[in-house]
Amino acid sequence: MFDQIVGHQQNKDFLARFLNREERPHALLFYGPEGIGKCLLAKEFARAFLCLGSAQGARPCNHCESCRLLNFETGNFAHPDYLYFDPMTDEEQEKKKTKIISVNQIRSLIKQSAFGPTLSKHKICIINEADTMNTEAANSLLKLLEEPPDRWFFILVASSVSRLLPTILSRVIQVRFTPLSVEETKKALLHKEIPETEADLLAHLSDGSLGQALRFREER
Ligand SMILES: [Zn+2]
Repeated sequence: MFDQIVGHQQNKDFLARFLNREERPHALLFYGPEGIGKCLLAKEFARAFLCLGSAQGARPCNHCESCRLLNFETGNFAHPDYLYFDPMTDEEQEKKKTKIISVNQIRSLIKQSAFGPTLSKHKICIINEADTMNTEAANSLLKLLEEPPDRWFFILVASSVSRLLPTILSRVIQVRFTPLSVEETKKALLHKEIPETEADLLAHLSDGSLGQALRFREER
């Protein structure tokens, strides 16, 4: 399962088991260094989680309406039960040129949380770089996590746990991601059709971060 993503076997196994559990917590936190595939795995998990295929069969099945409407390869994100938040340049933040998950984004999420799923059994919401939330945004999100709406599921993705409020941390199951091995990084680079010698060099230079390896490549 999740074979198209390199590495993180333990976490993939955990998520595969998680998928089939009847009773499960409402929120996970994926944390670990940048550029190692946390968000990618969160998105693939979302596809499997929302898939309408049978629990016994492979999920995502890649055939059902849900899989069709949430397909990262074709760039189709029209799934009504999938929400994704990336940090944005806030009006007040514009001068600082930093991107954050703003309180306005969380407010829009809270508005949407009044509605249940329409196609799949659940709604899923991924908040990428959740550690860029300021206190105001974090406190708003906390209220949602304290009383999670029925049939909603949240995945927070962050590189630094220490930047998240302890109260948020107490509401999520933490899933730790470790850097990729040199071999795994190289394999991922080869998947991207980068020549072997270059892939080998980049893999050795990038501290187990595929994102870092790709940035090095751009800068060369
Ligand atoms: Zn499916």
